[in-house]
Amino acid sequence: MPAILGGFVELLDTFGNDLTVVNAARVSFNKEVNTMSPGDEKLVKYLADHNHVTPFFHPQARFRIKMPIFVAREWYRHQIGFARNEVSRRYVDTEPEMYLPTCVRERDAKVKQGSKATEVPLNDQAHAIIKETNELTSQAYKRLLLLNVAPEVARTILPQGMYTEFIETGSLAAYSRLCGLRLDPSAQWEIRQYAAAVSSLMEEAFPTSWKALQPQPQQEPLPRVPSAEAVHAAVNGC
Ligand SMILES: Cc1cc2nc3c(=O)[nH]c(=O)nc-3n(C[C@H](O)[C@H](O)[C@H](O)COP(=O)(O)OP(=O)(O)OC[C@H]3O[C@@H](n4cnc5c(N)ncnc54)[C@H](O)[C@@H]3O)c2cc1C
Repeated sequence: MPAILGGFVELLDTFGNDLTVVNAARVSFNKEVNTMSPGDEKLVKYLADHNHVTPFFHPQARFRIKMPIFVAREWYRHQIGFARNEVSRRYVDTEPEMYLPTCVRERDAKVKQGSKATEVPLNDQAHAIIKETNELTSQAYKRLLLLNVAPEVARTILPQGMYTEFIETGSLAAYSRLCGLRLDPSAQWEIRQYAAAVSSLMEEAFPTSWKALQPQPQQEPLPRVPSAEAVHAAVNGC
């Protein structure tokens, strides 16, 4: 299970495989096959290249994902073809965990919504401010609970950097669209790490289809899940 930015992406289950796509397409001719042939691989590529997406709706994957809320807000914008259930802070009042970037990326004056791949000159200071704010917020949350404030009210002070956890089921087509958009260099670095992890797991589960779908718009091969060393070095952000 790849560990990502203090969270994780765990593949819980899959439904179907590359043959599911093939047989969904071949039913048009009332045909069914039991093993993948080179012709079937060509068929899958043809379907993907010509945007015949419905056969890719049938295979499904289910993940358990832990990510910061600001990443989840972006992730949840992908709605069609997904079902999600999430930990509720109305019921759960355990100590919140917060994302703490060690490398705090600087603003890119040329890109309205982006950041540079480099850290701010006063990185230690920026890191300390985030850490201190996280700790203060955690303490304040605990104090509210001690005052018998309901968790659903106490949670209002928790930040966007807090981790959340959810179970998500989606179709092969839906994950292809999500990864296509969120692996793009214009997407935020943090969400790209999660998209890369999902992409790698989908590639293992549905190798022919995932290769054929090579999510648009980027044409280059999909990045692999970073190694543990790379994650350690990259955590979190530059
Ligand atoms: C780099 C980047 C930056 C972004 N910046 C912002 C931002 O600043 N602000 C912001 O609000 N969002 C932003 N988004 C989110 C973006 O607008 C989409 O909501 C998100 O990418 C999900 O797209 P989706 O096509 O997977 O959506 P889904 O809702 O999952 O829809 C999937 C597909 O179904 C079809 N569909 C869905 N709903 C309809 C409909 N009502 N009518 C017709 N067809 C429909 C479309 O073909 C759509 O592509 C950004 C996304 C990215 C990748």
